Amino acid sequence: MPVGTQIPNLGRSRRDRALSDNTADVIVVGAGPAGSTTAYHLARSGLDVLLLEKTEFPREKVCGDGLTPRAVKQLVAMGIDISEEAGWLRNKGLRIIGGGVRLQLDWPDLASFPDYGLVRKRDDFDEQLARQAQKAGARLYERCNVGAPVIDDRTGRITGVKAKLGEEKREVTFHAPLVVAADGNSTRLSLAMGLHRREDRPMGVAVRTYFTSPRHDDDYLESWLELWDRRGAQDRLLPGYGWIFGMGDGTSNVGLGVLNTSDSFKELDWREVLKAWCASMPEDWGYTPTT
Ligand SMILES: Cc1cc2nc3c(=O)[nH]c(=O)nc-3n(C[C@H](O)[C@H](O)[C@H](O)COP(=O)(O)OP(=O)(O)OC[C@H]3O[C@@H](n4cnc5c(N)ncnc54)[C@H](O)[C@@H]3O)c2cc1C
Repeated sequence: MPVGTQIPNLGRSRRDRALSDNTADVIVVGAGPAGSTTAYHLARSGLDVLLLEKTEFPREKVCGDGLTPRAVKQLVAMGIDISEEAGWLRNKGLRIIGGGVRLQLDWPDLASFPDYGLVRKRDDFDEQLARQAQKAGARLYERCNVGAPVIDDRTGRITGVKAKLGEEKREVTFHAPLVVAADGNSTRLSLAMGLHRREDRPMGVAVRTYFTSPRHDDDYLESWLELWDRRGAQDRLLPGYGWIFGMGDGTSNVGLGVLNTSDSFKELDWREVLKAWCASMPEDWGYTPTT
């Protein structure tokens, strides 16, 4: 769908069909990017969708805030206004720094994807997607903490979810023939549905901050494959990888992640690693504690 296209108001007919406020064709648990996008497309295709979100918008989430052309394509398909006037900063590609090499790779020029990426803070990015799902007719319940799935004794099928709703944590049961677990990385619902975490995949921990910086309008996403501490007599290689994404609003998003396969994973002080890495950067970039 082109940017700015009006979404027809399908809500009323669906609402009429719904047996009650707590019943729908599909329940989507979690209004992060995956859940809101799923809810949007299902609602657009005419289904009655309940979108259940634990937190309340706007809410913050630790993130690099950088979006690749693939993500941009999905935003366009959802009719999100991604213009610069609406506060989106475009980027041309990825700059990779490591092994003494600095590569600047433009996003490819393909017919099937835009040739630019975007940057947007998560504190309003996720809300925009959730509101777009609402506009398409999905019914969003915020402060709705989903606990266990409801399982039909006869068939063993999941037919809904139990949740605690609102400040008073009122116990509510929602029903639908289809439940989508889009509740993120820790996905308590998937575990309660009998799925298991894959132990063969590494897990990462990240730390991120915003600095006021003249590099705020950098039009490349920057990825650091090596992090060096250059404060001592001898340079020291730190664990992990880092990123610097200009936000276009006077700040840079600077962060790093470390995988649990790293030898020093357990005893690391993440903030100290970030401080050491930032101290190795030119002072005029402004990645100092005072900024
Ligand atoms: C440090 C870091 C940096 C990143 N940087 C980038 C980046 O620059 N660009 C990029 O594209 N991706 C980035 N990512 C990845 C990106 O954050 C994830 O891919 C994305 O958030 C996954 O979306 P999701 O909707 O699956 O899950 P989430 O975004 O985690 O959303 C899950 C939602 O479910 C809700 N929820 C959880 N439990 C319940 C419950 N019991 N009941 C109801 N609701 C519940 C949560 O509140 C949340 O809103 C980064 C990730 C990390 C950790």
